[in-house]
Amino acid sequence: MKNNHDLLHIGTKLLNWYYQNARDLPFRKTKDPYKIWICEIVFQQTRILQGLNHYNRFVERFPDVKTLAEASEDEVLLYWKGLGYYSRAINIHKAAKQIISDYNGIFPSQYEEILKLKGIGKYTAAAVSSICFKGKMPAVDGNFYRVLSRIFADDFDVSSSRAFAYFSELSYRIMPNNVGDFNQAMMDLGSEICKPRNPLCGDCPLNEDCIAFSLQKTSQFPVKTKKIKSENLNLQYFFVHREEQFLIQQRKDDFIWKKLFEFPTAIPEVLQQFSKGCKTFQHKLTHKNLSIDIYDVEVTSNEIWDHFVSEHDYLVTDLESSVNRSFPKPLENYIQNLLKD
Ligand code: SF4
Repeated sequence: MKNNHDLLHIGTKLLNWYYQNARDLPFRKTKDPYKIWICEIVFQQTRILQGLNHYNRFVERFPDVKTLAEASEDEVLLYWKGLGYYSRAINIHKAAKQIISDYNGIFPSQYEEILKLKGIGKYTAAAVSSICFKGKMPAVDGNFYRVLSRIFADDFDVSSSRAFAYFSELSYRIMPNNVGDFNQAMMDLGSEICKPRNPLCGDCPLNEDCIAFSLQKTSQFPVKTKKIKSENLNLQYFFVHREEQFLIQQRKDDFIWKKLFEFPTAIPEVLQQFSKGCKTFQHKLTHKNLSIDIYDVEVTSNEIWDHFVSEHDYLVTDLESSVNRSFPKPLENYIQNLLKD
């Protein structure tokens, strides 16, 4: 392999391409670490076009660390609605409180300090420190793995536990001084040009340097040996309702939907007589295939309803006001369908 000096022109070409082609995104106009942090978390899980409205809505309501830290967790979850991965919203909220208590409300500028914040990993810490504070760490993620594997036709297994360290090291070989822009350029190249399938090599600024392209072997990189198996899960809910009202509870255990509101997951025998049937919904999450049974339980006795509500910790809500709470997507869809009826 050529020495680092010979390879730096790759990073320079990439930067020149980025300066001509950078996507015009709202968070590109700011160096506010708070906003860069939020957008990094939002767009880790959502495509830019789909996530923009959510991002704008979130930072409009919580424009800075202080506003976010002072908000209730339920409200933060509500503004995260539609983005999934609610544990990320819970962590963002905790990290905002941490910045207030440990850093006097000022976003830390050092990579190592940013890394101490709840829910922030190496990728996000590197992105925020390089974009906002001239930090020098590459923000290595799947885009880096893919682009670097292809440029060097490197068959290092990206599912290996050492992949992050390996590709960080490799990126230093092509990384120019302006690491913040370089990191963003890699993100843009990875999502717009060097796509996982059918990369647009004809439009790529690095096609003269890319070994996989010259060998016509782009589809063979990156190399990934381990596949994470999806888990099949069955869930059961009871939509217990009387006239416009229905029962909900907040999930407390460590399940994916912790802190979200749900219908009861079990009911006593006395309510089972009111069951009008069940519908099953399929829902896919990353690494999970959910099959969800929702039983329609319409309680027609005032006495049983009142007794049940007073004896249990369920909250009573109605269709209209339930939109102010965060539900898992399949339950939200169920409620939305009832609202349409
Ligand atoms: S030439 Fe093709 S495979 Fe190589 S980096 Fe560019 S887009 Fe990716």
